[in-house]
Amino acid sequence: MSFIQNIIRKNINDLKPYSSARNEFSGQNAILLDANENPFNEPFNRYPDPLQIAIKQKIIQNINLKYNFSPFNQLSIDNIFLGNGSDEAIDLLIRAFCEPQIDNIISPDPSYGMYEVCAGINNVDFRKVLLANDFQLDPDAIRLNIDNNTKIIFICSPNNPTSNSFIKNDIISIIETFNGIVVIDEAYIDFSVNEGFLPMLQNYPNLVVIQTLSKSKALAGIRLGMAFAGTDIIAVLNKIKYPYNINFLTQNFLLDAFNKNFDNNKYIDLILKERSRLQKELLTFDFIEKIYPSDANFLLVKMKNHHQIFSWLLKNNIVVRDRSRHKLCDACLRITIGNPQQNDALLNALNMYKLSISSNF
Ligand SMILES: *Cc1c(COP(=O)(O)O)cnc(C)c1O
Repeated sequence: MSFIQNIIRKNINDLKPYSSARNEFSGQNAILLDANENPFNEPFNRYPDPLQIAIKQKIIQNINLKYNFSPFNQLSIDNIFLGNGSDEAIDLLIRAFCEPQIDNIISPDPSYGMYEVCAGINNVDFRKVLLANDFQLDPDAIRLNIDNNTKIIFICSPNNPTSNSFIKNDIISIIETFNGIVVIDEAYIDFSVNEGFLPMLQNYPNLVVIQTLSKSKALAGIRLGMAFAGTDIIAVLNKIKYPYNINFLTQNFLLDAFNKNFDNNKYIDLILKERSRLQKELLTFDFIEKIYPSDANFLLVKMKNHHQIFSWLLKNNIVVRDRSRHKLCDACLRITIGNPQQNDALLNALNMYKLSISSNF
């Protein structure tokens, strides 16, 4: 029995998926009278490719090149699922593998909020395991929480909101000792000094790597998330997704971008440069107590009077994220690295704040 069959929900395993009209015909230039589409208003009148083959081929090709994978390690289009944002992949993984009210999910705390929300929507028990004080994983504590009904462990690395990457061997030890699925959320991997877990995908049938176009590629608006995994897991996600989950506009935009060799890695260096600058300049303020080392495109900043500073920034038309209610993030604001002008505006506003508090005394 394959790994998948031990953990997939029975109803999902037994499910006969919806077969869309376009699944049954793959030729070209046919007269399409099969899907009740409107014949006018080309090309928007047609349903998009349900499996997004053309963009998957481009993405996979780029990844095989980027990581210089040997022939054994090359990924194929059967190793990738595309979703309406990574959140779709997160939700589908839970629905495929977690039986409501019976199974459970584990994730470090603090981390990305959507894992818990998706678990809650699906009525699946969500177990939060506190990170260590240095924001690293506590693999022993995670193991203590695993039982026979633990189906998924979500690990976000680099982690949101703590901004650090977890130690690679801690993650590997979890992948190797856990019998369920380990999902590594690499939304911020392009900002990291680490190369991430895609090179290990072929070694572990229980590994899922999630990436997104929303951050380093500056395409949050088109909604495209990617899940990479062994072909068994990908087949399950394809089986239960909405048939046309990636719309024509998104698919078309990406194909166009690929054909024009659009380089959206070009933003990464500038953002990293701005991250160092902001880090240095922020530390000159007395009311900034600590900036945690960041491997992502944001800074977690511990402040004196974080409430006051949050409101001050808001009054100055600058919105940052208050993470102070999260465990281990006492008095912390999360600040996304903006463009140089935006970062200057932030520093200016903080300077004004500094003047305003000194004039009070
Ligand atoms: C921003 C972010 C995502 C991206 O979600 P999309 O739905 O792809 O936009 C995923 N995971 C984490 C941890 C994030 O911070």
